[in-house]
Amino acid sequence: MGKSRIMVVEDESILRMDIKEMLKEAGFDVVAEANSGDTAIELAALHKPDLIVMDVKMPKMNGIKAGRIIYQAYQIPVLLLTAYSERDLVEEAKNAHILGYLVKPISERDLIPAVEIAMAQANRLKALTNDIKKMEEKIEDQKTIQRAKGILMEVYQVSEEQAFKMLRSYSMNHGKTLKSVADYIILHRELDSNASVG
Ligand SMILES: [Mg+2]
Repeated sequence: MGKSRIMVVEDESILRMDIKEMLKEAGFDVVAEANSGDTAIELAALHKPDLIVMDVKMPKMNGIKAGRIIYQAYQIPVLLLTAYSERDLVEEAKNAHILGYLVKPISERDLIPAVEIAMAQANRLKALTNDIKKMEEKIEDQKTIQRAKGILMEVYQVSEEQAFKMLRSYSMNHGKTLKSVADYIILHRELDSNASVG
């Protein structure tokens, strides 16, 4: 795995530079920096960082709102920086994509371990999201295969087991996946039924 790619969003330029330097020294790749929530959204789209270290209080759009928009679009998690430790802020920030928050002033001693933990969580979150996606694809594949089996059963007047054997032997003989054979069968059925209507 390469260096973790981080975007830093902070409207105080000196602090932003400090954070950037601390991250670089710790071996992280700072791929983008922004001074507002709306710029953060644009740069997130462009650079797709692994993690965003983002200030809460910024002019125009705050970090919580920007983080929510970015996560919905690109599933990039956020580590928040805040000058406040009020309860309502922490409550508001309790979303799946907020992997933690640091209270200013930000020191290297606090920042680096927090970023490392957030990165580990971000990677777990990514793996989990991929697993769910794969599972959903598998379910979709099964539905397609079921449908193709139904077509074969009807056309050839065979049992479900025999229909499955037909599918499987075709897929093995032609080096194709069950899903792609099923897609082919369904497509032909659709073309046939369109032709018979016309
Ligand atoms: Mg600020």
